[in-house]
Amino acid sequence: MLPEWLSIFPASTDKYQSIKQDISSLGLHTVCVEAHCPNMSECWSGGTATFIVLGDLCTRGCGFCAVKKNARGSVVDENEPEKLARAVKSWGLDYVVITSVARDDMADQGSGHFARCISEIKKAVGDIVVEVLIPDFRGDDECIRRVVNAHPDVIGHNIETVRRLTPYARDRRASYDQSLGLLKRVKEMDRTIYTKSAIMLGIGEDDAEVIQALSDLRGSDVDFVAIGQYLRPSARHIAVKEYVRPERFEEIGKIAAQMGFKYAASGPFVRSSYRAGEYFIKATVRARGMQLPAEVP
Ligand code: SF4
Repeated sequence: MLPEWLSIFPASTDKYQSIKQDISSLGLHTVCVEAHCPNMSECWSGGTATFIVLGDLCTRGCGFCAVKKNARGSVVDENEPEKLARAVKSWGLDYVVITSVARDDMADQGSGHFARCISEIKKAVGDIVVEVLIPDFRGDDECIRRVVNAHPDVIGHNIETVRRLTPYARDRRASYDQSLGLLKRVKEMDRTIYTKSAIMLGIGEDDAEVIQALSDLRGSDVDFVAIGQYLRPSARHIAVKEYVRPERFEEIGKIAAQMGFKYAASGPFVRSSYRAGEYFIKATVRARGMQLPAEVP
């Protein structure tokens, strides 16, 4: 039984319906649908969605993740970058998040396709903030560089949980240090790109471990962090050990802010790409003294 603070009442607005229509007519995928995200109706009604590229079959098997798994991924749609750019342009987005499944079955692990998606969107919609949430590319420098050279504004990669629980929650090809190393490499390759990571709570971690993970992320020069509640997609996935109370999320969020993150989102419904645009715009304005768009307070 979910605690009261996790009950959500999905709203089905016209914007929600038109986005749903567009996504299916263009044959695009979203992590909102694939990962059963509880914020889908709010985000879509707000006119934003997180696209998942490179198909909906992941070559990994993380115990917490609802995405479909297979040793071989789907056939890659070579027109996907153009379709994505068309959807983003037609929705009038000023902030877009792109993520993908892991593609261990591809020579470049999908990094080339990621780069093309970024370039096509930036070509189609000049003034847009592009955030990518990438897999670990098994720490391969050339794959990381291909994405960095496409100049997204934000590169995210989730460590997902604390060091001790990583082998339990994530696929055997993932590792805590490999993920921290990737985030550090991005900054070494291009300091103008913001980096971001996310941690889910409620699978057995304690506060000291969470604070250590936040400190490790700051040690890798990570700018943004999102901390949310793990929700079990099905009985086949790892169990929820605890529904963390909103007050504790607030405390952890304050600690993260004191550690120097440019933005720390912490709350039961926070996901790595939840309301991403606002965070980034605010941080960018502070850091780069840009003119604020009228509606941002
Ligand atoms: S790598 Fe893990 S978390 Fe990412 S989509 Fe695949 S199974 Fe899910």
